[in-house]
Amino acid sequence: MTRVLVTGALGQVGSELIPALRGLYGSEEVLATDIRRAPPGHPALEGPYEQLDCTNGPALLEFFLRHRVGVVYHLAAILSARAEAEPQLAWRVNIEGLHNVLEAARQVGAQVFVPSSIAAFGPNTPRDPTPQDTLQRPNTLYGVTKVAGELLCDYYAHRFGLDVRGLRYPGLISYTAPPGGGTTDYAVEIFYHALQYDRYTCFLAPDTRLPMMYMPDAIRATLELMQADPARLQHRNAFNLTAFSCTPAELAAEIQKHRPGFKMYYDIDPVRQAIADSWPRTLDDSAAREEWGWRPQYDLAAMTKDMLEKLAERAL
Ligand code: NAD
Repeated sequence: MTRVLVTGALGQVGSELIPALRGLYGSEEVLATDIRRAPPGHPALEGPYEQLDCTNGPALLEFFLRHRVGVVYHLAAILSARAEAEPQLAWRVNIEGLHNVLEAARQVGAQVFVPSSIAAFGPNTPRDPTPQDTLQRPNTLYGVTKVAGELLCDYYAHRFGLDVRGLRYPGLISYTAPPGGGTTDYAVEIFYHALQYDRYTCFLAPDTRLPMMYMPDAIRATLELMQADPARLQHRNAFNLTAFSCTPAELAAEIQKHRPGFKMYYDIDPVRQAIADSWPRTLDDSAAREEWGWRPQYDLAAMTKDMLEKLAERAL
């Protein structure tokens, strides 16, 4: 049995991927790591947890060797809005950190999962729907690091035969951990504000359509891709992945079906609006469907109902 390493385990994805992996492989086999100290009660602390900075290449390799890591889910990253504010940090974490992980994995022969994003596309990419293989000239630093990361993963696969796989996650909606400074964060915040104040002021315009996914689908997609028969994978890395696309106005209307008093207001943030306007509106994820059988389970209505129920239960 090889051990599983998760970097960036305290984030929005890691907080749900860690329990799922521990359910599959056993608590002691899944090593949760992040640059931060884990807050008390965090799910990552229900098994081995260590602080680990992915920009520190020697420490990372030492960790791989000490724990005999056989699979790594590399989630550590600086997300879109924060990357615009701290570009040097974003480059170090998203590029140098990824390179360190690929190098360590190459040296021990580990399997690797690396998320990309809809941010890997740019203003001249076809947006409705965005094909699997298309123009990628993003104009955000986060997007630049995501395209470079996709290419680096392809390089390690072709040059060294590394089993590196990845998904282009759409905006992820979840209730376990807060989002980490991305452009689709509104789609999470809106639920907290709906339950607490029955109103939300959105930083994107009402008609900004973006691809989205509920976290249970994203976690299942991640695990299914990593378990997929390699002989069927023609792309391996950077699969388009989607469940539904929606606008802030449509999400507000869906919430109003459950909470008729809910009111939506808009105060547009030009930085995040410009980022959103350069991203796909809908995605063609037929490669994921054909090569490893991807099928989403949650649409806008099912996600909204479940988010409101789960957050209301947590508030009790
Ligand atoms: P997040 O910001 O919630 O979590 C990232 C984690 O990385 C944080 O806990 C942070 O402390 C940690 N980290 C930062 N610098 C580090 C370093 N040097 N070493 C180790 N850890 C470090 O992000 P997330 O939403 O969980 O995203 C996980 C992955 O999925 C990222 O690659 C992200 O680009 C991608 N993604 C996320 C979304 C989304 O909507 N959340 C969408 C598309 C792609």
